[in-house]
Amino acid sequence: MFDLPITPAPRVQGLVAGKASPGGGPELPVYYPGTGAQVSVLVEDGPEAVAAAVEAARRAFDNGPWPKLSTDARIAVLERCREAILANVDELARLECVATGLLMRELRAMHMKRAAYNFRFFADYISQTAGQRYDQTAGFLTTVARDPVGVAALIAPWNAPVALATMKIAAALAFGNTAVLKPSEQTPLALARVVELLQEVLPEGVLNLVNGRGPVTGAALVEHPGVDLISFTGGTQTGRQIMSVAGRNLVPCTMELGGKSANVVFASADLDRALDGALIGIFANNGQQCLAGSRILVERPVFEEFTGRFAERAAAMRVGDPMDEATELGPLASMPHMNRVLGFAETARAEGCRFLTGGARREDLGEGYYVAPTAVVAPSNAAKVAQEEIFGPFATFLPFDTPEEAIAIANDSAYGLVAYVWSDHLPTVMTMTEALRAGVVWVNTPMMRELRAPFGGYKASGVGREGGAACEAFYTEERTVTIPK
Ligand code: NAD
Repeated sequence: MFDLPITPAPRVQGLVAGKASPGGGPELPVYYPGTGAQVSVLVEDGPEAVAAAVEAARRAFDNGPWPKLSTDARIAVLERCREAILANVDELARLECVATGLLMRELRAMHMKRAAYNFRFFADYISQTAGQRYDQTAGFLTTVARDPVGVAALIAPWNAPVALATMKIAAALAFGNTAVLKPSEQTPLALARVVELLQEVLPEGVLNLVNGRGPVTGAALVEHPGVDLISFTGGTQTGRQIMSVAGRNLVPCTMELGGKSANVVFASADLDRALDGALIGIFANNGQQCLAGSRILVERPVFEEFTGRFAERAAAMRVGDPMDEATELGPLASMPHMNRVLGFAETARAEGCRFLTGGARREDLGEGYYVAPTAVVAPSNAAKVAQEEIFGPFATFLPFDTPEEAIAIANDSAYGLVAYVWSDHLPTVMTMTEALRAGVVWVNTPMMRELRAPFGGYKASGVGREGGAACEAFYTEERTVTIPK
């Protein structure tokens, strides 16, 4: 049981202009969350290696063909990027599984397919983009064109490394930028292989990879004066630090940050669907999702029934080997993260939460980072487990009596990434969707990411958006030209 899904390369290195990066930092261990075994080492890129990567991207931008390529030619390259990923879905899913402990079933069917689709999506998008033309002012013609910005620093988290980072890579490249990617130091394996595969397709220096810890490699990257824009997905605290650097350097940035999203279930909902949706909303991706519906608000007349059925289903979930097709919940991504999630179970006990299920490590599963699916009823929305992002298989329930109370509880949060509403009563749905302070509201569906639409958060959940038009605005500069006719 718990065999490694693949044997990764013993050492993982960055890539600068298609060659192994000079590194310069220490070697960092990479662990398989399924067993806790060390499976590889990552060579950390120090400030000099980071500078080399930014300079390679700069040369590719200033001198290379990429930013000036015709749209049709760029689309053809993006299409080859997509094919390169699709041809290697199994290997990439296995590498991702080794570093993250995410379920192979989900990695193959969803993450890697999404990664490939990200390139198709932005290829399609740029095939339809057009400039603007104004000739209303007598005697003058004004046109507005969009130019690439330059060198993009792309910083990715560990919870869905390839799916999230390829959105940034595809968007940056589609609009003619060059890029330096820094994956999470915990989960570098599959992204290193993605960048390697794309070297076969992209001109030299268009996509570079640096590896290492955030405060070392990440900080050197965002502080480098050669960086023209920063796209970051990760924790809110890190986002604050990076944005202050971006402010000093006057560099545009987008911040996709944390969440503590409300999942509001009304008695007027189809409760079977709402139950399925609530389970997916908190336990998918091993419970590690920015968009998790982690505060589940249930209307009081159905509260006991709903929480009882939820606890029964959660307790029956198959926890274990991420390679096993039957597994429903795999390990958490790292030992420190598992300890942090278990720390919230302690906090919940101290705060007087009522445990419906879980709240402990699955010791029976060996040294892997397995935590039992957990659900608690909090004494109020002021509880830490109702306010702080746990980022694990941990649902916090709260009852409510009226839509107004549900809105007040849902909006009483530092975060505002997404919200979920379950009801078959249209006026209730309309009231809720208009009042919830969140960047995305899903009604009667757990998660449906429409790439054409903006995705991002209110309040501490982010600044800026990702998505078709939002990425076009972020990854391009607008240039207005006026000439007499
Ligand atoms: P993190 O903030 O610890 O790290 C994210 C990335 O930033 C990593 O690559 C890390 O090495 C790097 N980093 C850390 N400090 C840095 C610094 N000072 N300068 C530059 N880079 C630095 O986050 P994480 O723990 O990897 O990811 C989990 C968090 O990400 C959660 O809060 C989750 O909600 C959030 N997230 C948000 C979204 C979204 O779309 N809103 C999606 C996924 C994850």
